[in-house]
Amino acid sequence: MSYRVLTAEIAHETNTFSKVPTGLEAFRRRVFLTANEIPGARRGTRSDLGATFEAAEKFGWTLSYPVAASANPSGRVTDEAFETLADMLLSGADGGIDGALLHLHGAMVTDSHEDGEGELLRRLRAKVGPDVPVVVTLDLHGNITELMATCANALIAVRTYPHVDYYERAWQGAELLQRAMKGEIRPRTVIARRPMLRGLDGGRTQTGPMRELIDRGEQLERDGRALVVSICSGFTAADIHDIGPSVTVTTDGDDAAGRAIAEEFMDYAWKTRDFASVTHWSIDDAVRHAKEGEGKHDRPLIMADVTDNPGSGHYGDATNLLRAMIAADLQNTAFYAIYDPQAAREGARIGVGNSGAITLGGKHDPQAGGEPLTLTGHVVALTDGHFQTFGPMGGGVWRDYGLSMLLRVGGIDIVVISNNGQAVDTAQLTSLGVDPTRKNTVAVKSNHHFRAAFQPIGREVITVDGGGLGSVIWRKAGFTKVRRPIWPLDPLD
Ligand SMILES: [Zn+2]
Repeated sequence: MSYRVLTAEIAHETNTFSKVPTGLEAFRRRVFLTANEIPGARRGTRSDLGATFEAAEKFGWTLSYPVAASANPSGRVTDEAFETLADMLLSGADGGIDGALLHLHGAMVTDSHEDGEGELLRRLRAKVGPDVPVVVTLDLHGNITELMATCANALIAVRTYPHVDYYERAWQGAELLQRAMKGEIRPRTVIARRPMLRGLDGGRTQTGPMRELIDRGEQLERDGRALVVSICSGFTAADIHDIGPSVTVTTDGDDAAGRAIAEEFMDYAWKTRDFASVTHWSIDDAVRHAKEGEGKHDRPLIMADVTDNPGSGHYGDATNLLRAMIAADLQNTAFYAIYDPQAAREGARIGVGNSGAITLGGKHDPQAGGEPLTLTGHVVALTDGHFQTFGPMGGGVWRDYGLSMLLRVGGIDIVVISNNGQAVDTAQLTSLGVDPTRKNTVAVKSNHHFRAAFQPIGREVITVDGGGLGSVIWRKAGFTKVRRPIWPLDPLD
């Protein structure tokens, strides 16, 4: 028989410290696809929905796909946006479904709900009843809750950071869902956590405790001791009760066995909570290092400002690092990017091939990353910011950064974008005519995802504390709603 399966993508990583609310227009700027638009945009891509379409074909499912929506990380999702997306999702279950395979993030906070995904799953469960299997893929930066674990049958978090396995995880979910719909298994999920605000090295999977636990979880899956083991490091820029790392274990109805595994894994996460594989450079040290390396190498130094990472909901318009780079007169250098639609429009008025004065960045919060910069630069290129990404995280999907400008100031090619986003794909530079492989230095804004595309082309990668919002959160400690006591805010043994 042909099963009727609901699938959808609704993803947002909410930085509750950001002043920028996330309304429907923020989803429209990134991904907002309704039913008929989805197959054309996702079929054949190495994305979660791409895998879901392939699985539907293999298993003969009739797919219901009411919505695919994601917005760049930013402040709380407005009630209007959340209710619209939730209604669209639930409408996909009208007429009854045999199962659901949803692609969510896990760190969505809305005006009214600290646990956006839990609320979505609660409503879906209420609509479809207790027996319809619901399988959910997640980002490993999700702040996973008891409500999510209870309302879903299985939670499957990505196992790579940079996240390059959405496709594989969606396939894993599809196979599990098929078995559950056939009645071969009855998956249930339990969760364990500790009083930790952060841990597991921010989710870095190259080495350290996250790698260790993912490997052990996969071994348990191979041994048949668990259907799924998911390790989430959590997302720290969220002032919510249920923040922090978690382990969820899905078994064939054996909660006690699942709980024993989850608790043991979280014991290890607790013991290793201090582990950090990366330390950040100061702006002065980083820029000096870049200057000293000029002309001595045939591959670029990659330096990433991790404190103004649009991928974590930071503003993307911090100027501290760029100001220091200009002051040091770096040569043959690229900078990605300043998010500033107004500056891009000023550049369009000046016109390609002309020079003029432009006020750049620092407009959201000069306390977080520096004051606006007034620069005289040469407008080298303008594009509509729309291009296809083929890097390890791109998967062939089209991205849209809005009106984009390449502004040359001295020896620095500065990219200015109108639609915020971190550096994850070299096409973000090549689409404006910049070949990053030929530069002395390439500065990006990103915490870790940039490594998938940029580490292979660089001679060295360093991360920089640029004093942006990501740094301010910890310096000014605005956490008032997290459960207490919690490490590292409180002394815990
Ligand atoms: Zn993530």
